[in-house]
Amino acid sequence: MFKKLLLSFCVLCLLTGAVAAKDLPAKWDIETDVLVVGFGAAGSAAASAAHDAGADVLIIEKLPFPGGNTALCGGAVYAAGTDIQKQLGYNDTPELMQAYQALIKPGLNRPEFIKLVSERSNEALEWIIANGAKIPAKEGVPGITMGGFERNFDQVTPAMPRSHWVEGGGKGLFQAFFNAVSKRKIKTSMSTTAERLIRDPASDRIVGVQATKNKKTIYIKANKAVVLTTGGFSQNIEMLTAYAPSGNNYKGAKGSSGVVGDGIKMAQEVGADLWAMHETLESMGILGAPNAYFTPFMEYTLIVNNKGLRFISEGAWTEPISEETLRQPDGEAFLIFDATLRARSEFDTTLGSVVPTKFLVEANSLEELAVKFGIPGEAFLKTVADYNGYCESGVDPLGKTRAELFALTKAPFYGIKSNPLPVMTTGGLLTDTGARVLNSFKEPIPGLYAAGEVTGGKLVGYPGCGTAVTDATIFGLIAGENAAAEKAWK
Ligand SMILES: Cc1cc2nc3c(=O)[nH]c(=O)nc-3n(C[C@H](O)[C@H](O)[C@H](O)COP(=O)(O)OP(=O)(O)OC[C@H]3O[C@@H](n4cnc5c(N)ncnc54)[C@H](O)[C@@H]3O)c2cc1C
Repeated sequence: MFKKLLLSFCVLCLLTGAVAAKDLPAKWDIETDVLVVGFGAAGSAAASAAHDAGADVLIIEKLPFPGGNTALCGGAVYAAGTDIQKQLGYNDTPELMQAYQALIKPGLNRPEFIKLVSERSNEALEWIIANGAKIPAKEGVPGITMGGFERNFDQVTPAMPRSHWVEGGGKGLFQAFFNAVSKRKIKTSMSTTAERLIRDPASDRIVGVQATKNKKTIYIKANKAVVLTTGGFSQNIEMLTAYAPSGNNYKGAKGSSGVVGDGIKMAQEVGADLWAMHETLESMGILGAPNAYFTPFMEYTLIVNNKGLRFISEGAWTEPISEETLRQPDGEAFLIFDATLRARSEFDTTLGSVVPTKFLVEANSLEELAVKFGIPGEAFLKTVADYNGYCESGVDPLGKTRAELFALTKAPFYGIKSNPLPVMTTGGLLTDTGARVLNSFKEPIPGLYAAGEVTGGKLVGYPGCGTAVTDATIFGLIAGENAAAEKAWK
């Protein structure tokens, strides 16, 4: 009797197409060797490497267009020992990069990854350049700058400018990844959302995905492997609230609407372990200008809260400034500078290039600026007077260096209202250095790879601008190569 019931249930499932995700479907709609889920930096690199290793490859992307956060990012790639550094007289090496990165959140960033990324960062940069990215050999943006906390650790390991900013920002950067895919004529399918991973019950191997295209459920078979390159979860407020301590306090988010943690959820269902899920990178940004990303220059400004008080060294870089701003009244801050700073050439290529003009508030006096922002004038004027004193003496009680101190004296004065927003999540799937997704016993889940922001434990504390794209490129290439080397399932 039970057997009969089971049989009727199976027949019903086949007739209605209601196959549970982890079961094998009655029929596959599409077949490939390596299925790459997500068309950003990591997906493009993985697909290219798998193709070069001889595999048939398909990339699926849930949005109608490719790019993900890669296309919206600042366009920095972090690398050491590069030709551009050499041309500008910097004697940087992978060992120095490794020594620096090892100082950022040790324990949460796994040492074997820091070593591998440092050793291969120049290769990643050269791969991106070979695919069409342009980076001028000069200091600045585009060009090279310090990327994060390098100056803070200068006594331990020499500070080197490793952030290589591509011409055209994220758009220019993603174009190179897109070129890599299109010149290989790799198959792609837009508006195709992977929903669940499919596992072969006999071998326990991941053999494809259940996806949605044009509101229809389809089954895609991956003979060799599935590579998850779906990005992080910075656009998923529910996941941020569940995992990240600041999750509830954000007033918005930056980046692509596609990065909502799909890859993490799919892999969790098949037993994947997670790492450092509480870690996010916040950046000072602007509500209403989701892609405004504060690049170098912030350190030259004066930052106050809405009580007109200074609360952190502006040279502390975007992540600590954002974290501290979240603790300020209404979680907001104001970046203040004067006509002299505004006239510096770096302004136009850094902050000035990302802040839409309507968010740049101008006033003929500091009093007027305080009124425009609704900041108590008396407190604000005292803060500026004290700050100008520190600029004169070169000694700042909050620890800003002499090179970053510029007195605010020349009208007009400028200000930008800013809120910390999540830029990326640095926790995610636990993988090994071969980009295999690991289960909670640290064993690889057969047939499943992951690369880029969907993975965790490599960029915690965000060592500097460009480290995410470097990581996505290196592990995308590794994932693609290893996925293509898998023995075909059937
Ligand atoms: C404003 C901003 C500035 C930044 N600046 C920099 C910088 O200068 N340098 C740097 O290194 N990093 C920067 N970052 C971080 C960096 O952009 C990302 O970490 C990196 O680009 C991630 O690459 P990825 O390939 O892993 O994911 P993404 O480029 O985000 O691509 C993931 C893709 O997967 C798709 N996808 C998701 N779920 C599914 C699904 N279920 N099915 C199919 N497709 C799916 C998404 O739609 C998306 O297109 C910045 C981020 C932001 C938001």
